[in-house]
This record gives sequence, structure tokens and C-alpha cells, in this order.
Amino acid sequence: MDPYRIWLSEVMLQQTQVQSVIPYYSRWLKKFPTLMSVAATNEDTALKLWEGFGYYSRCRNFLRACRIVVDQYGGRVPDDPIMFRMLPGVGDYTAAAVMSIAFGRAIPVVDGNVRRLMARILTRDIWGSKGDRYLRSWLREWIDPRRPGDFNQAMMELGSLVCRPRDPNCPVCPVRSHCRAYATGRVGSFPKRKARRALPSREAVVGIIRRRGKFLIQRRPPEAFLGGLWELPGGKLEDGESRDQCLRREVKEETGLEVRDARYLGSIQHTYSHFRVTIHAFDCRYGGAMPRRVRVDNRRWITIKQVPRYAFPRGTHKVFDLVANHRGRIRR
Ligand code: SF4
Repeated sequence: MDPYRIWLSEVMLQQTQVQSVIPYYSRWLKKFPTLMSVAATNEDTALKLWEGFGYYSRCRNFLRACRIVVDQYGGRVPDDPIMFRMLPGVGDYTAAAVMSIAFGRAIPVVDGNVRRLMARILTRDIWGSKGDRYLRSWLREWIDPRRPGDFNQAMMELGSLVCRPRDPNCPVCPVRSHCRAYATGRVGSFPKRKARRALPSREAVVGIIRRRGKFLIQRRPPEAFLGGLWELPGGKLEDGESRDQCLRREVKEETGLEVRDARYLGSIQHTYSHFRVTIHAFDCRYGGAMPRRVRVDNRRWITIKQVPRYAFPRGTHKVFDLVANHRGRIRR
């Protein structure tokens, strides 16, 4: 088995359902059939392939890690768990999955499915890093040293397909005779459900700042949320601030440009993993001289037809849809 492909699949499967992963995985492998080809690409190309998939730090870290593998390990994924764990974006889960499946190392995987399955088998609620250590101590005893990859995948599949969160299929479960929750009639009591907190809401303002049939976009800083993706200038609405004031302040702070003739286009809503945002979009022009910082590498003037060349967050794509609906009404 190709460690690169296994590693890629495990990175993509973090926080993501298999069905969502499949098209991205296929597209990625078509473009980058080898680890060397990933290492040789640039971040924009990689992020464009990842666009819409979310958790973009996975993509940036994978790219960085592949470059390190090429530079330091001659392009071969290290089979030493300590070396592999030191690569960007590789945590306990990814390290255990790749080491066991690709290299046959007896390291147990702990993910959400395994945690739930084990909570029921052991009738014990297992949370946090202490809980994971406790789980691993059990799993190290049970893992099959001859087929650790199969064992880990079987545990994850069992949790996902049989010991499901809401309606575990106990009658067909192959580990039913070992399950304390089943034996004591307490399947519904494990794991204890944590109350879900409502997602916080934010409001933001963005500007379609126009110049000679083009508009301005900028790249988000690499360390920021959605880092490396492109966006429209703008930002979060402060307390007591009007949308118009926010637009002027944010654009000035980010680009040095003075917004003129701002005209409200409409608003869109988008939900990210940890917050909801309402984005108010404005069509506008700018006044005064073009500051030097607008011409640097992380900003571009593009036409609407050039949008597909860049990777944008989903929320920004919704704004582009809004713009497309207003096309006839926007000043050129
Ligand atoms: Fe889960 Fe039921 Fe199997 Fe126990 S018997 S592990 S609760 S599916």
C-alpha cells in the first residue's frame, strides 16, 4: 500500500464524512499522483483543489509535510512513528492510522467512533487526553500485532456502521458478548451526551472595490482562519458601528484605500464549523492615490471571469453569486 495515499486519505477524513472525501480525494490524486508532485506544487494550486472542503490548515500542513519528506527523507514517508509524528499536521490519530495501515505498526487508533464504541464496551465515559490514554492502554492489549491496520480499521468501521451514535445495531454486533453496556441494558447511557452550545453569530462587511472593470481581492494570512485563501477586503462589524462605517474602516486598515460611493448589494449567510456569519456586500469605488501596499503580492485586481483561478471560502463564493445577480445593476 502506498503510504502517501493512506496518509492523504487520513488527512482528508479528519472531521469529514467519507462521502464528502471521495470526490476531493480522486481529484487530488489525479493532479498529484505522487508525494513528489505535491511537494513541487505551490500553495495556491493545492488550496484551489481543496476549495470548499474546509479545514484548510489540513491542506497547508500536508503540503509543508510533503516538502519536508522530500527534503529530509528522500521522498519516502518515514516509517518511524516519532519522526512521522513530528511532521506538520500529524497528530496522534493520523500517526496511528498511517503507521498501522501502511507499515504494520501496532499502534491503536482513537477517533470519535472508537471512543463511542469503547465507552459502551467498557461502560465508561471517555473524554479528553486522559481518556484517550486510558483507551489506548486497553487497545494496546487487544490490537492484533500481525494485522494492526485491519484491527484499527475494523474498530473504526464497527463504531461508524454498527455501534452508531443514535441507534446501535446490537443484534448484529460481533463484539456483543464483550459489551458491558449491552449486558447491563445501558446502551443508551453511553457515551453521555454533552449539551451542544449554540454557534455564535457574527456580522461582517465586504467591499467589491472596482477599478477599470476589475475588483480587488487579497490573500488571507497563512496563520489566520481560512489562511491562504483569497477574500474581498472587509471585516467584522464592531459594536455600535454602522455597516458603512465598518466598510470604510476595514478597507482603510487593510489596504489604505478610501472607500467612495459605497452601495449596498445585499447580504448572505454562511455557517462555518464554529460560528455563523452574515456578510453584507457593498459595491464601491475608491478615492485618492493607490497605496503601495495594494500592489504587493498578496493582492490582485481581477475580473469576475478570473474568480475560478483563485481559492475562496464558501462565504465569498456566495457573495460572488450575489454580485452575479446584480451584474446588470453594478456600475462598470
Ligand atoms: Fe455497540 Fe451494541 Fe455492539 Fe455494544 S453490543 S458495542 S452497544 S453495537
